[in-house]
Order: sequence, then C-alpha cells, then structure tokens
Amino acid sequence: LSEKLQNALGKLKSKGKLSEKDVDVAMREVRLALLEADVNFTVVKDFIKKVKERAIGNEVMKSLTPGQQVIKIVNDELTSLMGRTEVKINFSSTPPTVILMSGLQGAGKTTTTGKLANNFKKQGKRPLLVACDVYRPAAIKQLEVVGERVGVPVFSMGNKHNPVDIAKAAMEHAKKHANDVVIIDTAGRLHIDEELMDEIENIHKAVNPDEILLVLDAMTGQDAVNVAKSFDERLSITGVILTKLDGDARGGAALSIRAVTDKPIKFVGMGEKLDELEPFHPDRMASRILGMGDVLSFIEKAQANIDADKAMELEKKIRTSQFTFEDFLDQLEQMKNLGPLDQILGMIPGMNAKALKGLDVNEKDIGRIEAIIKSMTKKERQTPEIIDSSRRKRIASGSGTTIPEVNKLLKQFKETKKMMKKFTEMEKTMKKKGKFG
Ligand code: GDP
Ligand code: MG
Repeated sequence: LSEKLQNALGKLKSKGKLSEKDVDVAMREVRLALLEADVNFTVVKDFIKKVKERAIGNEVMKSLTPGQQVIKIVNDELTSLMGRTEVKINFSSTPPTVILMSGLQGAGKTTTTGKLANNFKKQGKRPLLVACDVYRPAAIKQLEVVGERVGVPVFSMGNKHNPVDIAKAAMEHAKKHANDVVIIDTAGRLHIDEELMDEIENIHKAVNPDEILLVLDAMTGQDAVNVAKSFDERLSITGVILTKLDGDARGGAALSIRAVTDKPIKFVGMGEKLDELEPFHPDRMASRILGMGDVLSFIEKAQANIDADKAMELEKKIRTSQFTFEDFLDQLEQMKNLGPLDQILGMIPGMNAKALKGLDVNEKDIGRIEAIIKSMTKKERQTPEIIDSSRRKRIASGSGTTIPEVNKLLKQFKETKKMMKKFTEMEKTMKKKGKFG
C-alpha cells in the first residue's frame, strides 16, 4: 500500500495548484491503492468521499503547498478511520479484571495471552492465565510454556473438564491467590461455527468478563474483517488485537476493522516473541500506511511555524533565481523555529536536498551566518555582486567574524543559487519528458 499511495501522492507534490480535477485524479489512484491493500470496499468509498470533500476548496488553497495539504488530509482521515487515539485495557475497579480471548485457530490467541501477561506483570500486576482450550492436545502445554517464560502462573485442569467449569474454577483460584488479572485462553476453530460461538458465549456467561478481546491475524486481510464482524455480532467484543502485523505490508485489515465493527484495536502483535506486543496508535499506523512519516511531521511543524504565503513567495523566487540574502535570512529565522536543521533542510517547498548540500549549514554556523548577513546593507543583501574587498572587510568586523568566513558564505551563496537554477531547469526538462507530474 505504502508504495502505491506514495506514487499517487507523489504526483501531487510537485504541483503548484490543485484543481478539483487534480484531486479527482489523485483520489482515483488512492482508491485503487486502498482496494489493493485489501481494505473493505465500502470503507474505501466513504474514505474517498470524505477526503474529496475536504481537499477541494478552501483548505487546500490556504496550505503550504496544495499537494502537502492533500497528504495531510489523507493522513488525518486515515487516522480518524482507525480511531484517532490509543484505547487502553479496561481494568475492573473490583479485581480480578477478567479478559476473555477469542478468535480463530492460529490467529495468535495463546501467544498474545502470554504477551498480555508479560505486559501486565511489568505494570506490577499479578496475572493468572487459564487454559480453556481442551481440544488440541498440545494447547495446554503451549500455554504452560508461555506462562513459564514470562513468569506467570497458569491454571489448568487438563482436558477432562469442559471449558465453562475450568473458567469458573479459575475465578475461585484467582480470588484465593490474589491474582488481579485473569486471562482466559480459549479454543479456536478453523472457521466460524456455532459450537465455537456457543462455547465462548457460555464461558462469557460464567465469568462476566471486563474485556472480550478478539485476536485477528492481520495477514488474512479482508477475511479478518469478516471474522471481526461475525464475532462482534455474536459476542459484542470490547476490542481487537491485530497480530502478525510484522508480516503484513498492506495494513488493510487495520483500516477496515474499526470502520466495520466500530470496536477499537487495542494492541498489535509485531512478532513471535513475548515482548513483541505494542499499543495500537492510529496516527502512527496511518503514517506507516502512508509511508510518509517525515513528510507528515514536517507538515505539522511547518503549519505551526511557517507563514504559507511567505513560503510560496520564496519558492517562486527560488525558481526564478531572484533569491537574495534577505530571503536567505528570512529562511534561516523560520528554520530556527522548526528544530533540528538537518531534518528541515530539503523539506522546504522549492528547496531541494541536493541544491542545499553546497550550502553546508550546521547549527553552530547558523548564528555566525546570520551575523554576517545582518552586517550587510540592504543593497548588499539584494545584489551581493557589489560586495567588494573593502565591503567584505567592513562586514567581517561588523559581524565579529573573519574575512575568510565572509568569503566562504558569499561563495556558497553563489553556488547554491547556481545549483538551484540548474535544478529548476532539470526539473523543467524532466517534466517535459513526463517523468514528473
Ligand atoms: P492460537 O491458535 O490462536 O492460540 O495461535 P497461537 O498463539 O498458537 O499462534 C499461532 C502462530 O502464530 C504461532 O506460530 C505464533 O508464534 C504466531 N504468532 C502469534 N502472534 C504473532 C505475531 O504478532 N507475529 C508473528 N510473526 N507471529 C505470531
Ligand atoms: Mg491457542
């Protein structure tokens, strides 16, 4: 998904203005990308509609660059589709908190039970794991191994009892042993069937859980969404844990599940090891899907700090080679508000990392550069060509720097302008050849 979307959005990045038609074209590609990522069809439809509504019109026009604004809108909508904020486990005010694990066979219930216990133990809790998968011979043993690995007790009664009795007995055990979290690992099936649903429902009635977590395998994509729907209709789940996200490049399941069930994804499994469980962050997931973390955080920073009109004006100047020391000073000042310089350079619209390389600015130098430019007269800043040796001497002493430093800056500035011009021309020819836009 990431690559596809990036291609679609990348096309917008180099454009100056965004018309309704531009948005339409881009959204068609975003739509295809999402469908290919296995996102539910109706979810995609809704999504595209929302983004279009936001993209066409005012918001786009006020932005830093129209393309970046559209990226931000796509990202915002992806985030809100997945729930906006992280949703935590709902702990009971009267312990023990009971968590019922549900899901198909192989989804990762037993592994995730261990991961959760590990997590809770680190928070200072005293979890108890309960082995209610009595059908597969190795299932109880597997949970016992997992429990031992994270140092958490496992309650089991072998496979001669039914899961409801085991769950009830486990509750008594937990109360006696002051376990404040009880996690019940249940049996799965290869497919959803009545027997399985009945069994979980009966355990549910017997223990009245605070959380019914549905464990879903992200790699199953669209199937996971259907499973989520069926389980939720029957059990009214309280949350989802999406496993094997480490193996899923598409991420389509995460997008659809929340939209279809309206239940939050609480954790994601990022590997087979018992510490590879992470809280689900919708915003990070959106950025991951977009694969544009850098761009996104820059847009956020920039919107807070950079005057959009000024940036537009600057971009025009760069493109027409009218860039002066005054613009440069302006730029430096704005950059100082943005944070680490090396991250910011090259992200400014119209600036390009390649073009800026010759500039060689680091944060220590920036104060001295500023001092030099400030010691120039207005005329000198606008037409640096007039800065002869006597002017250089005056600027150096005025700024508390040296003549070689002034020379260096003048030289770099000249080279940068040359490179910017070259780059602009290069971009123009590439555009003509159809490689950009
Ligand atoms: P259950 O049948 O639902 O109890 O599933 P298991 O817990 O036995 O897990 C099935 C397989 O998936 C095992 O091989 C696990 O190691 C693996 N697994 C579980 N969670 C993850 C995960 O987040 N990432 C990866 N890569 N593998 C996982
Ligand atoms: Mg299991």
